[in-house]
Amino acid sequence: MADTVVWGLIGASTIAREWMVDSIRKHPSGKVKAIVSSDLDRAKAFASDKAIAASYASVESMLADPEITAVYISTTNERHVPDALAAIEAGKHVLCEKPLALEIADAQKIVDAAQDKGVVLATNHHLRNMESHRAIKSLIDQGAIGNVNSIRVFHAGELPDSLKTWRLHDKAAGGGVIYDITVHNGDLLRFYLGANPIRIAAIAATSGAGPKRIEDSVMSVWEFPGDILVQCHDSFVVGHGPRGVEVHGSKGSILGIDVMSQAPGGRVILRTKDGDREIPLELKVTYDRGISDFIAAIQNSGKPSSSGDDGVWSLKLAKAVAESAATGRTISIEQT
Ligand code: NDP
Repeated sequence: MADTVVWGLIGASTIAREWMVDSIRKHPSGKVKAIVSSDLDRAKAFASDKAIAASYASVESMLADPEITAVYISTTNERHVPDALAAIEAGKHVLCEKPLALEIADAQKIVDAAQDKGVVLATNHHLRNMESHRAIKSLIDQGAIGNVNSIRVFHAGELPDSLKTWRLHDKAAGGGVIYDITVHNGDLLRFYLGANPIRIAAIAATSGAGPKRIEDSVMSVWEFPGDILVQCHDSFVVGHGPRGVEVHGSKGSILGIDVMSQAPGGRVILRTKDGDREIPLELKVTYDRGISDFIAAIQNSGKPSSSGDDGVWSLKLAKAVAESAATGRTISIEQT
């Protein structure tokens, strides 16, 4: 097919294995040709499991394949910057996992490099692509609850044993709940409200098995323009709590029940003086939409659902949470 987008995967990761390869393949233009891992045996095993033709032990050797036009980066967080810059330099379009980087200047470097090179860059924030969150956004925009005055986000779960690795134990790899979970909240809240917060205050803790300097729980309060207050609870150590969101307004509330996840599911309820109304949801794999929007951008018929700029912003907000937790100060958010 003339418009086929041939992908190389950077990172033999769980998310690539469980979701992204399948989402790419579901797209009529999506073909996965190669995978690179820092360990060639891991790359080969992944390629064999997922029927991928080529495996590599170095990013550069995979990027040298001219047939590959797009890469998906899902290495550990500290590797996103070098991997993305190398791919952009090689002229590939880049779908990069969050956080784009661990420093804002580095994330901006990726955005600038993609713009200079004329390639598409997107951040793989999935929540804004879920049917549940799109329904919530649509209710907010329709004025179904009047003026929004507050939001509560419950993004607290427990990692499966297979993922109790660098996230809990390796600060240098970008571990900790803030760079894993809070960063998604920042993107979701900006999606809901179409605005950036003004200030953020947070307290973090390590109550699980990881080293004390890597936080596994954080609670934060955010102020958005228009006197909108947001409360977020993000954690790796809450095994059995509901994961959802509440949006409250002058005329009602929206309850998103079990909607902070990767898998399709959950419920959205509009509660007003007329009672509760459940919003019907067409449940789809959230990553399919991210892939479809990214490919549309490559084919000049759309734009990424979450751009590189969105990735810089979500990192900026996660870093404000981290800074507040570390210093005890309330952090003002620069709007540029
Ligand atoms: P994994 O821990 O599964 O994989 C991350 C990296 O760890 C891999 O790229 C691989 O490196 C290395 N690795 C994998 N298996 C092993 C092993 N057995 N021994 C040693 N190293 C191993 O991470 P995730 O898939 O959970 O996350 C990857 C990225 O995706 C992160 O940036 C995360 O933030 C993001 N993510 C995003 C989600 C979203 O919804 N947008 C959801 C989940 C994760 P190598 O490739 O060099 O072999």
